[in-house]
Amino acid sequence: MNFEAAATLRPRPLIDPFARAITYLRVSVTDRCDFRCVYCMAENMVFLPKQDLLSLEELDRLCSAFVAKGVRKLRLTGGEPLVRRGIMTLVASLSRHLAAGMLDELTLTTNGSQLGKYAGELAAHGVKRINVSLDTLDPDKFREITRWGDLDKVLAGIDAAQAAGLKVKINAVALKGVNEDELPSLVEWAHGRGMDLTIIEVMPLGDIEESRLSQYLPLSMVRARLAERFTLDEIDYRTGGPARYVRVKETGGRLGFITPLTHNFCESCNRVRVTCTGTLYMCLGQNDAADLRTPLRASESNDALFAAIDEAITRKPKGHDFVIDRRHHRPALKRHMSVTGG
Ligand code: SAM
Repeated sequence: MNFEAAATLRPRPLIDPFARAITYLRVSVTDRCDFRCVYCMAENMVFLPKQDLLSLEELDRLCSAFVAKGVRKLRLTGGEPLVRRGIMTLVASLSRHLAAGMLDELTLTTNGSQLGKYAGELAAHGVKRINVSLDTLDPDKFREITRWGDLDKVLAGIDAAQAAGLKVKINAVALKGVNEDELPSLVEWAHGRGMDLTIIEVMPLGDIEESRLSQYLPLSMVRARLAERFTLDEIDYRTGGPARYVRVKETGGRLGFITPLTHNFCESCNRVRVTCTGTLYMCLGQNDAADLRTPLRASESNDALFAAIDEAITRKPKGHDFVIDRRHHRPALKRHMSVTGG
C-alpha cells in the first residue's frame, strides 16, 4: 500500500485555522436539569421535545467519530448529565475507548445530586475524576441559588464519589453579594477533603430573570481578597481546561480561576462542544455552529459526519467576545449554559 492510501485509513486529526489541535470534546447529553441555578436558567425553562434529542446510540456514534479524529478527552455535561435516562449505558459504551487506549480521559461535570446512585458505576467504567458544581455550603443559600436543590443530597453524593475512588474537583461560580464572603471557607473545606477548587466568573449566557450586572464579580477582585487571607503560589498545573491554578500555601491544595471576562483564555483553546441535538459549537462564546445530526442520520457510514466535522473546525474562531451589555442588560449570547454545557 502506498503512503497516500494508508493516510486515508484514519480520518485526519482536527487542527483549526490557528494551528490549535482539537483534542477535547464536551458533550451536553441533555438540556434538562433537576436544579434551576439562578445564573444559569430561568425558573420556567422550556426544554427540548424528546424527539429532538440524539439517542444514546447516536451520542455514542458522534463521540466515537471525534475519538477517531484524535479527541483524547471527553466530558459529559448538560443540563445535568446524570438525569438523562440510561446515561450509564453511554458511559459504559464510551469506556471502550479508554480500554483501547484511544481516549485519555472520560469525565463529567455534575451538580452531584445523583452521585449517591451512580458514583460506583462511574468508577467501574473507568471514570477517574469528576467536577462537581457547588457554590455554597449554606443549605438556605444553596436552595436560593439552585431554586430547589438539597445541599445534603449533594454532600452525600460527594462522599459517595470519594468513597468510590473518584477524584473530585469542586467548581464554584463567584456571585456578588451571595457567596463572595464564603469563598475562603469553601477553599478550606474543599482542600481539607483533598479536592481542588475552581472559581468561575459569571458568563453572560442566556436570558435569566436577574440582571447579570447584579451577579457579576470580577475574579481579579476575588483573587485579591483571597490573597489577603492565603498565600497563593503560581503553579504550572493544567488539566486541559481553561483554568489557571495556584497552590494555597496554608492548605496545600490547588485553587483554579476561570476568568472568561477579565482574562482571555482562548489562545490555548483545544475544545469544542456538542449539544444533545447534535449541534456543534466551535466556541462557547460565539453563535456559529454546525449541524451534525443531519449527516449522522443521513447514512450509516461516517463519511458525511467526518466531512461535516472537518468543515466546522475550519470555522473555529480565534476567540470569544463576551461582553456584559451594561446599558440594556442583555446577555452576550441568547443560548443558556445548559444548552452547551459548562
Ligand atoms: N448540571 C451540571 C453541573 O451543575 O455542573 C453540568 C452543567 S452546568 C451548565 C456546568 C457549569 O456551568 C456549572 O459549574 C455551572 O455553575 C456553570 N454555569 C452555568 N451558567 C453559568 C454562567 N452563566 N456563568 C458561569 N458559569 C455558569
